[in-house]
Amino acid sequence: MMATSTMTTAYNLIDIGANLTHRSFKQNIQQVLERAAKAQVSDIIITGTSLSASREASHLATKYNQEQQLVKLYSTVGIHPHDATRHSTYNYREQLVDLLQTNKTNVALGECGLDFDRNFSSPDDQRRVFDTQLQLACEFNLPLFMHERSASSDMLSLLEKYSQHKNFRGVIHCFTHESLDVLQQYLSLNLYIGITGWVCDERRGKNLAKLIPHIPLNRLLIETDAPFLLPRNTPKPWPKNNEPSYLPYVVAKLAECYSISTNEIAKHSTENAKQLFNL
Ligand SMILES: [Zn+2]
Repeated sequence: MMATSTMTTAYNLIDIGANLTHRSFKQNIQQVLERAAKAQVSDIIITGTSLSASREASHLATKYNQEQQLVKLYSTVGIHPHDATRHSTYNYREQLVDLLQTNKTNVALGECGLDFDRNFSSPDDQRRVFDTQLQLACEFNLPLFMHERSASSDMLSLLEKYSQHKNFRGVIHCFTHESLDVLQQYLSLNLYIGITGWVCDERRGKNLAKLIPHIPLNRLLIETDAPFLLPRNTPKPWPKNNEPSYLPYVVAKLAECYSISTNEIAKHSTENAKQLFNL
């Protein structure tokens, strides 16, 4: 695999966000996991984005943990802001609680948050469904796996409501902001920052790349968000989909941004993931 030629580190990598329930992985999940293992990805957290997807994520993790020991799989339980309206009409809270109580592979509450960029759900529905999930994360003592687009001020005011709770902790996944101020406000809530292949994009990731050194190494997490966001420093011809085995390309770009070794990036991001998700 090409990924291994860019780096081999003394530390394994943890992909904190991969959408392995996506239909593009239906046919080849076994090979995807084998390639991930070859690229030194030891653990993958499968993102749950709705009640049904969260259930599926857990089934997938359980099944493949039994069938293969190459990569350890975990999952999350949550409702993505895009899905807020669809869920807000029925007893989604009870169903989330039910999943949280029964799901053995769950390590986080999410993907949840606010997305006012696309507004696939109304902002009101998004705020309500996110608020419920913030409560549940504190109640179940789980870290939050959060998504935010064009909604940082609403997001920060909702987070501040819960930030004093002893169980409050989490990650802003796929952080793409170009504002140091927004970054510092998330950091001041003791949140972790998840970086995807977005940063490897020589055009739209350029300003994010400049912000990277402002993320303390003890707050940095890495993820692919596969099958989306293929790192553009992956050698051509580019594959159709991103997958966890391309995580080393994110590590390589981060090492360049911080001017430190890929080993350091791997060491810190892996330690941080273990700590936050209690792996
Ligand atoms: Zn997201």
